[in-house]
Amino acid sequence: MPFVTPTSQRSSYDVIVVGSGAAGGQSAYTLCMDGAKVLMLEAGRKYTPESETPMFQTPDQAPLGGVGTPQKPFGFYDATVDGGWEVPGEPYVCASEADAGRFEWWRARMLGGRTNHWGRISLRNGPYDFKPRSRDGLGFDWPIDYPDLAPYYDKVEMLIGVYGSNEGLENTPDSPPGCLLPPPKPLVSDLLFAQRAGRLGIPVIPGHRAVLTRALDFRRSPRRLHPGNAVAQRLVAEAMRSRAPCLWATPCGRGCAVRANYQSTTVHLPPALASGNLDINTDAMVYEVTLGRDGRASGVSFVDRTTGRQQHARARVVILAASACESVRILLNSRSGSFAQGLANSSGKLGRYLMDTVGSSVNGQVPLLESLPPINEDAAGGDQVYVPWWLYREQLAGRLGFARGYHIEFGGGRRMPNYGTAAGIEWLTGGSYGTRFKEDVRRYYGSFVYFDGRGEMIPNENSYCEIDPTVKDKWGIPVLRFHWQWSEHELRQAAHMQRTFAGVLAAMGGRTRNGAQEDGALAIAPGGSIIHEVGGAIMGADRTASVTNSWCQTWDVPNLFITDGAVFASNADKNPTLTIMALAWRAADHILERMRRREL
Ligand SMILES: Cc1cc2nc3c(=O)[nH]c(=O)nc-3n(C[C@H](O)[C@H](O)[C@H](O)COP(=O)(O)OP(=O)(O)OC[C@H]3O[C@@H](n4cnc5c(N)ncnc54)[C@H](O)[C@@H]3O)c2cc1C
Ligand code: SF4
Repeated sequence: MPFVTPTSQRSSYDVIVVGSGAAGGQSAYTLCMDGAKVLMLEAGRKYTPESETPMFQTPDQAPLGGVGTPQKPFGFYDATVDGGWEVPGEPYVCASEADAGRFEWWRARMLGGRTNHWGRISLRNGPYDFKPRSRDGLGFDWPIDYPDLAPYYDKVEMLIGVYGSNEGLENTPDSPPGCLLPPPKPLVSDLLFAQRAGRLGIPVIPGHRAVLTRALDFRRSPRRLHPGNAVAQRLVAEAMRSRAPCLWATPCGRGCAVRANYQSTTVHLPPALASGNLDINTDAMVYEVTLGRDGRASGVSFVDRTTGRQQHARARVVILAASACESVRILLNSRSGSFAQGLANSSGKLGRYLMDTVGSSVNGQVPLLESLPPINEDAAGGDQVYVPWWLYREQLAGRLGFARGYHIEFGGGRRMPNYGTAAGIEWLTGGSYGTRFKEDVRRYYGSFVYFDGRGEMIPNENSYCEIDPTVKDKWGIPVLRFHWQWSEHELRQAAHMQRTFAGVLAAMGGRTRNGAQEDGALAIAPGGSIIHEVGGAIMGADRTASVTNSWCQTWDVPNLFITDGAVFASNADKNPTLTIMALAWRAADHILERMRRREL
């Protein structure tokens, strides 16, 4: 009985997993494949990409040609069915309304969370990224090294399917044979970018995205994923066979009905459900981890959103995977005599060291790409190529004025036209109408390029979240209040991005409309807006300075784990989700081992 209700769920489980996104999906998958009985509690509704994804709808079938609106910022067909920048009845508070102190929080409320529509860029952290403090004296080292996580990166890549290449570049790890799928062909704009950036000494290499460029190796990979476990091998082989390779024609942000890209709902949950070990209770908004008399977690309390009633579920182990800030919120709201400042908060670090990715963008137009024949260039939906950080040595020598690096995500090509395709081209045409306008649109279509910098933020004392003393959501649950501040390192990094992008664009023979923004404070995107928020319950080697140990296990409550981005001790420029999944798999292996030894 995989989908359950508060009345039909079992009286107790081995493990409760809160949340069904990248972290919850990976945690539940690993545990169920090894026989643990798992209850997944998900605040959002049930969601079935295979039948609900409007994959083949054309933009002209949608209002306003499918362009973004305040309610649907990523376009009408975006896969988010509930949630976004605002969740009705579930506010949060920013301590400052000024741009510099603002934090924006994207929340998905649906089975699979944000994995239904994320960008699917899947990069490994490198060895430096786990020991940043040892390198430059800033921030924190992780209590693990790259080799601790490498086998789990291998497994996640093999399971979810990630395309990319091995280039042997500094702090940009290669994957062992059999892990990566071949990358897609670059577009003509990618080739021009690679040629011209290369002349400036900037390496352009194939991107890494969780999209199947060919069928997964269902004969060999299952044995490598689950050695000695014939049942798990059979289940994962069946799941792999049910996934089709990419069609190269439909926008991934709508979700993928043929399971060609990674979503928790199409990759993690089907085999976990097929094992018979997973029960999922959707519309279950968890607000508290309950404690037994022995000081161990006894389960969680939640609001059944369909009835508004408060309910409880019990388990030997509780895993929070509700996304970084939501997991922190649940813990801060779980107060008791022994934990007056929030559960697992004896260090006082719960909510502290919130981080996002530094973001800054430049768009431009390239005459060399004008008037090319119109062809389908929807391709991989972005990130066919990217630039890993290339200035490690200059940075370490102190020549850049900021301590951490960034990578460049590049976009271009001729995607399926919509209302926005010809919007704003007056800066090139001077304004045109009728036949001339149509000629202009054909001329400029496909000649626009986009540079997005994604950089590392150093954790600081002024970026954190706490419980607001007065505001509650519609369920009566106290909400988060955010504090945010960039340091000079991030501001200078954003200004460097702008200069670099303008330089590459010029080398491509292109132009920007407004030039490069030299002021980092104006160039940087608001905190949270890149939607890579991590930290808040960082892992460490010292229980007085961190919330969890290296196994994502809270120092204070031995059967309570956090497997989402809250445990990140730093936020490398690499997009966080592959690392979230690798950490979640590693933590689940640890839980299984400890359960076998009856230590949990
Ligand atoms: C548009 C977009 C593009 C992105 N692109 C990339 C990218 O290219 N690469 C990358 O690495 N990352 C990307 N991200 C970020 C990525 O989506 C997240 O890092 C990842 O989904 C985090 O996984 P998670 O499981 O922690 O959280 P989520 O995927 O958000 O899942 C959390 C789940 O928990 C549920 N939940 C929340 N609170 C509760 C509660 N109290 N009780 C029960 N359930 C709860 C939510 O409903 C949700 O389903 C992107 C995000 C967005 C929105
Ligand atoms: S482009 Fe490929 S992976 Fe993306 S939605 Fe279409 S078929 Fe799926």
